[in-house]
Amino acid sequence: MTERYRGRFAPSPTGPLHFGSLLAAMGSYLQARSQQGQWLLRIEDLDPPREQPGAAEAILRSLEAFGFEWDGEVCWQSRRHPHYRAVLADLLDQGLAYRCDCSRRELGERLRQRGGMAGVYDGYCRMRQISAHKQHAVRLLTEGAEIHFTDPVQGSCSQDLERELGDFVLRRADGLFAYQLAVVVDDAAQGITEVVRGSDLLDSTARQIWLQRSLGYPQPRYLHLPVALNRTGQKLSKQTFAPALDPHHAVALLHQALDFLGQCPPPELLEANPEELWRWAREHWQADAIPRKLAISAPHTDPGQ
Ligand code: GLU
Repeated sequence: MTERYRGRFAPSPTGPLHFGSLLAAMGSYLQARSQQGQWLLRIEDLDPPREQPGAAEAILRSLEAFGFEWDGEVCWQSRRHPHYRAVLADLLDQGLAYRCDCSRRELGERLRQRGGMAGVYDGYCRMRQISAHKQHAVRLLTEGAEIHFTDPVQGSCSQDLERELGDFVLRRADGLFAYQLAVVVDDAAQGITEVVRGSDLLDSTARQIWLQRSLGYPQPRYLHLPVALNRTGQKLSKQTFAPALDPHHAVALLHQALDFLGQCPPPELLEANPEELWRWAREHWQADAIPRKLAISAPHTDPGQ
């Protein structure tokens, strides 16, 4: 039996849908729909201090207004804490993860004294037995974690996690679950077969593959789209004040997004309605045509003007 394609879009509700997030939504959607696959939606509301009230609902409304149709119920990470907790307990029991109470300052001092690489955890707590009652983070062992994978757009990628990063955090000392943990647990729970997202997350993929291996989960395929840059060369994001998309200009914006993703939509489609545009996009979607780049300038014409 051939595997049924299942893709997903997993926005963090830190702000409204902008052109950058539209690209990730469109790329993952068309990759799924062009293969008669399913497309699931997950709201990554894992980090309340970074979230904007109402942003999740606004993202859902915008997706609908732009004509996206998702399968099944929306998954909310804020409701999945018991699952993350169970997976952490399992990793700790198996000795694949451990408790760590190093502060950033202590780690920094050790690295300075012993000449370690900045930003690389030195494994100090690997052999220490820290009580569960003390405030602690949980780190994943990265012994032997040399990861190689091939991305159809970005090419072959490799990372030696132990050397380049060290044992990384799955749950922070303040109790928040790390993105890397939640994304891996949920991609597996939702049966995702391919992850399509922006190249800004390429750097997380090796960590996610290593965690999947540690947990015995299947590994999805990964495709990382080029990200859109603003006029000053920064990635479009809430932090760089990317403007919210106006659904009144859905067709023009979807046309720009198709063009950005290398699909060469014909100019006549600008006169089409959203259903016609989506039909064309599903029928003509070519992942091979996506520019093999990490980043590209966003279109500078604002359809609202
Ligand atoms: N929630 C992440 C973000 O909005 C995306 C996660 C993912 O696609 O793996 O940047």
